[in-house]
Amino acid sequence: MLDDLLQIDQTRIFVNGAWIAASGGLISVHDPSSGKIIGQIGRGTTADVDAAVDAANRALDSDWARMTATQRGRILMRMADLVQARAEDLAMIETLDVGKPLNQSRRDSVALARYLEFYAGAADKLMGKTIPYQDGFTAFTLREPHGVCGIIIPWNYPMQILGRAAAAALATGNAVVLKPAEDASLSSLVFAAIAAEAGLPPGVLNVVTGLGSEVGAALAEHPRVHHLSFTGSVATGARIQAAAARNVIPVTLELGGKSPHIVFDDADLDQAMPVLVATCMQNAGQTCSAASRVLVQKDVYDTVKRRMVEIYRQLVVGRATDSHDLGPLVSPRQQRIVLDFIERGMRDLTLAAQGRMHPDAAPGGNYVLPTLFSEVPPDHPLAQQEIFGPVQVLIPFEDEAEALRIANGTDYGLVAGVWTTDGARQLRMARKLRCGQVFVNNYGAGGGIELPFGGVARSGHGREKGFEALYGFTQVKTVTLFHG
Ligand code: ADP
Repeated sequence: MLDDLLQIDQTRIFVNGAWIAASGGLISVHDPSSGKIIGQIGRGTTADVDAAVDAANRALDSDWARMTATQRGRILMRMADLVQARAEDLAMIETLDVGKPLNQSRRDSVALARYLEFYAGAADKLMGKTIPYQDGFTAFTLREPHGVCGIIIPWNYPMQILGRAAAAALATGNAVVLKPAEDASLSSLVFAAIAAEAGLPPGVLNVVTGLGSEVGAALAEHPRVHHLSFTGSVATGARIQAAAARNVIPVTLELGGKSPHIVFDDADLDQAMPVLVATCMQNAGQTCSAASRVLVQKDVYDTVKRRMVEIYRQLVVGRATDSHDLGPLVSPRQQRIVLDFIERGMRDLTLAAQGRMHPDAAPGGNYVLPTLFSEVPPDHPLAQQEIFGPVQVLIPFEDEAEALRIANGTDYGLVAGVWTTDGARQLRMARKLRCGQVFVNNYGAGGGIELPFGGVARSGHGREKGFEALYGFTQVKTVTLFHG
């Protein structure tokens, strides 16, 4: 079934427009819903990364460099159309590979097409500036690609994250070496096939699968890579930044989060309630911007808790292909990490509610029940550390000042949600929250392809998504002419 969906030999890697065998052998692909092996991918090596980086550097001197921005945009638009045409295949591939419920994978393949479409349209709208300078001079800026961009992506939203990074990098004329996560490489390989079919010249996009410690490290350290974009854990992000520092190249890091919903006593609860839970439970909590903390003002705390408990009791976990509320986690390793957090919570905290397991959840799958803890002290590890699983903590607060203190009181700063009908408070909170994105009376709406995204503090730096990403994938050259 998987082979029919893929229409490529997934054991190969994509270098210089050709499908070649990875030189380090093979890695098994497991279905997280059952634990069964469903295929294999190539295990790339340093030599494969060298070949990909060489191909990307050569592509910078090829037709790709001579294409107009409009021509680059047209190729991306063709890629968008091809992704759209294969959206259902891509969704099923992702569901089998990472255990994401099929209805959620469908949204990811649509998002991939949307990223391509957005950056296709944006490609020829990025402009430099003329600068008022001294008499007799004309000064202006050009926005130029960095060159070869190394893009290292995680396993939680492979299609969305490769879409936002690769489409913006290509729209601005860079060449790309993409390294997907070892647990989630299949959609990146299909993406390479789609790029080739759409007419992207050889070497402009290369995909090397393999381990983080091998392919990822080799790419991050490579002296002929000119920019790095990384999405993943804080620990690996810090390593990537250290590697970038050694080569003195820019790096964009999108790392974890411990994002809060802040619910004031004047909030429209009917509007808020389903969003409070869904924005943590999507992808079984394996989302950088998961709203894993729910801060609630004391007057409405009991009501919000009661209504969240009701929602939790209806949540069902089961096989990903059946589109339950939650699928399995990506791997037994991730399942263990999350279960350890839950066990810690069971010892120290008040368990408010859990969801239930569907009978189709096979014994070998990496399932975890959605779990809500209440009256959680803001400094407890479950309220401070990123869990990356379906676990939420409820925290009461007195007033605006305390809400801000708690919301800003973690190492992270990615996203925040504010629920209040008081207009002045909406603006005060939006300004004072220490994070990269604030949603007022909504959260993570519609995937936010157009909305610049990224964090502060341990959540990383640099912005992807939206037009803003185009600035990150280019650098400014200033040209000054003396004409008298
Ligand atoms: P997780 O621990 O949840 O798998 P990571 O941040 O380690 O998250 O993984 C995100 C991406 O980074 C994956 O593609 C992974 O292969 C890659 N990666 C892991 N370790 C390294 C490393 N030392 N250097 C470069 N990339 C790495």
